[in-house]
Amino acid sequence: MPAQNMEELVSLCKRRGFIFQGSEIYGGLQGFYDYGPLGVELKNNIKAAWWRSNVYERDDMEGLDSSIIMHRMVLRHSGHEATFSDPMVDNRKTKKRYRLDHLVKEQKAAVQAAVAEAMGESLENFPALVAALVKRPADASAALISAGVRDSHSGETGDWTEPKPFNMMFKTTIGPTADEDSFGYLRPETAQGIFTNFKNVVDSTSRRLPFGIAQIGKAFRNEITPRNFIFRVRELEQMEIEFFCTPGTDEDWHAHWLEKRLSWWEAQGVPRSKIEILDVPKEDLAHYSKRTYDLMYDYPTLGHEEIEGIANRSDYDLGSHTKAQGELGLVASVEENLDSVAKLTIPHPETNKPVVPFVIEPSAGVDRALLAVMSEAFTKETLENGSERIVLKLKPHLAPIKVAVIPLARNREEITSLARQIKADLQRLGLGRVLYEDSGNIGKAYRRHDEVGTPFCVTVDFDTVGLGGEGKVSDPALLGTVTVRDRDTLAQERVRVDELSAWIRTRLA
Ligand code: ATP
Repeated sequence: MPAQNMEELVSLCKRRGFIFQGSEIYGGLQGFYDYGPLGVELKNNIKAAWWRSNVYERDDMEGLDSSIIMHRMVLRHSGHEATFSDPMVDNRKTKKRYRLDHLVKEQKAAVQAAVAEAMGESLENFPALVAALVKRPADASAALISAGVRDSHSGETGDWTEPKPFNMMFKTTIGPTADEDSFGYLRPETAQGIFTNFKNVVDSTSRRLPFGIAQIGKAFRNEITPRNFIFRVRELEQMEIEFFCTPGTDEDWHAHWLEKRLSWWEAQGVPRSKIEILDVPKEDLAHYSKRTYDLMYDYPTLGHEEIEGIANRSDYDLGSHTKAQGELGLVASVEENLDSVAKLTIPHPETNKPVVPFVIEPSAGVDRALLAVMSEAFTKETLENGSERIVLKLKPHLAPIKVAVIPLARNREEITSLARQIKADLQRLGLGRVLYEDSGNIGKAYRRHDEVGTPFCVTVDFDTVGLGGEGKVSDPALLGTVTVRDRDTLAQERVRVDELSAWIRTRLA
């Protein structure tokens, strides 16, 4: 059974070195987390699985790694400067600031209903209620106060200001000067780097429609209320595809990607039955979106929340950057002569005329993926002897450590040197991290590796090297064999050392 609540996951993540609070020794920085020795492996494995499936296993994709800091014009013409904001309200009593929709959602049902009633809206259509609160700020302030909306920190009713938009982009100065013009933005999504490189990729690869560009990288959002562990952070990582297609074929490609992405999640151990597909209501769509499916995974404690958005961005971004190039005099105006705008167009596959393609964008968060993968893998089991174990039943390709090699005696050179040799041989298979593990007794080592999801523990013992030990004579039949313990079944099998690499490879590759 998957994790029942977020606390058990948070506790495991900290205890075993998956995730730490950012800047912890100075009291922590809200909305920033650091990935520890196991977290970095799990994260890399998730990203590798995504890349393999979306780039290597397809014939219509290219990869990209664009820079994080972007020219402010990019984010102006993408629409982010004007619209990438969340509505916030302040409580004059406590001076605390909240994201409006989160604040209302957290209230008791009766209070939410009172807000809706005061605004003349229905609670059933929550996005429409939020839209009304944003559109009529004076009414909103009065509604929040009269409905008795409480401050999540103090628990008291608040004295609420009018909602205002808060732009979530981080600005940073560039170079030694600090004048008005020398700033850029930390990208709020990796997507814009793909759009600005669209022509470079087309020209250097000779791609024709339809094709896509994939990118994995950091994005930054100055969230008003970061929370729920790594679910909502200010520095996040995204795995994004911009899939370019001929206008008119976009809806079919949208359906294609929805299906592909659901099966990818399934292959990572996140079943379809735990993901609801939300066809995002019009009033809740991002500024660039024609239609969006949000994949809502059923997180422990949080319930259904977005793990991935699959948006039909139409020709919004390439169109808007192309238009801006015209307006800025970088190329001829688009309206005047589309043919001469070599910038962000591509030949139409049938007419050969330049066309601004439509874009389907599957965009998944790495941090949210890691949380979902871990919560599905998290299992508490009662063993036959009545003891309880926590085991992370990760898909083997995601496991941070693939194999732990354990010498049964730390002070017997014959055993330790063979164990080190086995570790080196298995490491060379290139399947991921193999650990030489001599830090404690074998029972503790097994428990630790269950908790971090290591699929196999290999033990080198006295019999392996033909040594008698612990009052026993060695068994000649076991000479040259090791014990391999399976994480999920707990079965222990003797495997010949010279066959071990092949044995492991067939089970992990
Ligand atoms: P939300 O509604 O939860 O704020 P969003 O709709 O703004 O998310 P998108 O802009 O669609 O999110 O971003 C694509 C993906 O990036 C999301 O599905 C999510 O997995 C991830 N993501 C977005 N914001 C954050 C964040 N603050 N922390 C962690 N992951 C995030």
